[in-house]
Amino acid sequence: MARYTDPVCRICRREGLKLYFKGERCYTDKCAIDRRGYAPGQHGQGRKRTSEYGIQLREKQKARRLYGVLEKQFRAYYEEAARQKGITGDRLLALLETRLDNVVYRLGFAGSRPEARQLVKHGHFEVNGRRIDIPSYAVRIGDVITVREKSAASPKFKELLESAGSKTVVSWLERDLDARSGKVIRFPERHEIDVPVTEQLIIEYYSR
Ligand code: SF4
Repeated sequence: MARYTDPVCRICRREGLKLYFKGERCYTDKCAIDRRGYAPGQHGQGRKRTSEYGIQLREKQKARRLYGVLEKQFRAYYEEAARQKGITGDRLLALLETRLDNVVYRLGFAGSRPEARQLVKHGHFEVNGRRIDIPSYAVRIGDVITVREKSAASPKFKELLESAGSKTVVSWLERDLDARSGKVIRFPERHEIDVPVTEQLIIEYYSR
């Protein structure tokens, strides 16, 4: 499937905030937001779009890019959320959060969402003992996500698993570092999803 391949720091600069696509680098003074905290391109330092539509569009783009989802799939998530019971905005974020690549990131097994996506695509994870290499795979309650035994022996994973220990795990997941695994204990509530997104604006964007 196609994906965004341009420099990711441009996305942060476009949205005007850190979206942490580059792991450790995002916490150093090399971060592009700290160096050039204005939108990229020729008109980056010019007047900002302030129309209602412009604000809704930017919010949608921010959420879409944060989770590394293309437009067609993002709209499908919105439509699925609108069909489900409950508040559409909450459901939308919960659907995005329960993507396998995001869960791998939330468990601390990757330094960033793009890295998690790549590791999943390269087949380094199992869900309930079965190898899954689809980043958008929707995890369910009770699912156990494990770093594959062969992968865990690689220097890359040794480093990742070592640094995972210092990362806090969100309350809707449970991690067992000795078993290189994590379990989905429930779906996330809105207050447990710490993303800088105003989901209501996204709903308004698609309801136009
Ligand atoms: Fe965004 Fe990280 Fe790049 Fe900073 S270093 S602009 S937070 S991706």
